[in-house]
Amino acid sequence: MSWRPDTYTGWGRALSATGEIARPERLSALEALEAAPACGRRRSYGDACLNGEGRMVDMSRLDRVLSFEDGVLHAEAGLRLGEIMRLFAPRGWMPTVVPGTGYATVGGAIAMDVHGKNHTEGTFGCHVEEITLTQNGKRMVTTPGSDLFGATVGGLGQTGIITSAKIRMTSLEGRSMYVHERRMENWDEFIAELASSEAPYVVGWIDATARGSALGRGVLEEARPVDKNPPPVKGTKSVPVDAPGFALSKPVVRVFNAAYFRRVPSIGRKVTRSFGDFFFPLDRVQDWNKLYGKKGFHQFQCVVPDNNTPALRDMLELIAGSGLASPLAVLKRLSDRSAGMMSFPMEGLTLAVDFPASKAAEALIARLEDMTLDAGGRIYLAKDALSAAATIDAMYPNRAAWTAEAAKADPDGALETDLTRRLELRRT
Ligand SMILES: Cc1cc2nc3c(=O)[nH]c(=O)nc-3n(C[C@H](O)[C@H](O)[C@H](O)COP(=O)(O)OP(=O)(O)OC[C@H]3O[C@@H](n4cnc5c(N)ncnc54)[C@H](O)[C@@H]3O)c2cc1C
Repeated sequence: MSWRPDTYTGWGRALSATGEIARPERLSALEALEAAPACGRRRSYGDACLNGEGRMVDMSRLDRVLSFEDGVLHAEAGLRLGEIMRLFAPRGWMPTVVPGTGYATVGGAIAMDVHGKNHTEGTFGCHVEEITLTQNGKRMVTTPGSDLFGATVGGLGQTGIITSAKIRMTSLEGRSMYVHERRMENWDEFIAELASSEAPYVVGWIDATARGSALGRGVLEEARPVDKNPPPVKGTKSVPVDAPGFALSKPVVRVFNAAYFRRVPSIGRKVTRSFGDFFFPLDRVQDWNKLYGKKGFHQFQCVVPDNNTPALRDMLELIAGSGLASPLAVLKRLSDRSAGMMSFPMEGLTLAVDFPASKAAEALIARLEDMTLDAGGRIYLAKDALSAAATIDAMYPNRAAWTAEAAKADPDGALETDLTRRLELRRT
């Protein structure tokens, strides 16, 4: 197995690393490698999937389906969740929880304990029945209930390379998604409707530029599978080059957001969408991250407990006043059902907003992080590129216990990434 020099980035492209990458195709080749961190498709935004000056094992070629029995899929860690959907949805099955991109791999979904649009089902890790790891060439199998399992799920790859996992899938009664879209005129209406919705899948797009009485306006999508043919799939588009700075300038974003809001009639509408279009809407545009130009972008994502949602409104007010947000802003409910010591979700609301990278955006995100901490919330490490050790320490109460487990699995720190070093997550 050869190591090749490369310079690479996370999805946000604001941070990069130069190091060596190996892309094993066989488990035997992987097990023969010296310990190094692993990555999937690098859909985390910041530096979780970077190892500057070091080595990184790219798992994308280890992507085989190993077995499927009684609703349990055994798959190699490099298999993309979108590929699982493509293969299994026509047969009436899907992963119980999927994030907003089908490019996330099984390994990446476990290592970040990702959440989906169905908060009542908890996180991806809640549906994992077994994980196989390699720890410096040694094979380990772990199951729910063990400390190693709790430290591996949401564990940022620090307990070994995940080579495969058994995932309990959900039976899917339908061929497409029936989506009810409704305009939410302001913040109060939005959070009330999010709280009372009983649809199995719920997600909100929020206009992070709207101010005054329109603060917090957006579109709520409530969805369920339906036994109807989906509309014909449109081809994927791509962003071939880095977009110029004005592409996401303040006036362009404002006009875009107003039009996006009004695309849904004031009485709402019901539409049928393909699974791909509903679960992974952004994947239709390949390399959409290039829209942010060469400097890249940051995503701020926090969760705030239910009793503190006014703090989230204050954050939105600050964001809208700054004029720095891009059109990509999402509001969702989360539950406290998660499976790892370092899992992000808690019972409450999560807000995710993208900002083109700039000094002003960094300063704004620093303020938003402080507000999140004051509100008893936390920020999501899959999206982070800017936070500081003390902030994360205060947000993740199980960090020290997790560090102890990671140290047992990786005593020399060979699996550290740029993120774990920046946030000093492995310090005892
Ligand atoms: C458009 C978009 C929408 C998204 N929506 C959501 C969402 O709705 N909910 C959500 O929770 N997240 C969401 N995300 C984040 C994304 O799901 C996570 O960052 C996920 O971890 C990416 O998977 P990946 O395979 O690309 O992992 P990478 O980004 O490559 O790696 C992520 C982490 O996992 C570790 N890792 C990866 N593979 C392995 C392995 N085999 N063994 C050990 N460690 C490993 C890496 O070291 C790193 O710490 C979204 C991202 C994008 C780009």
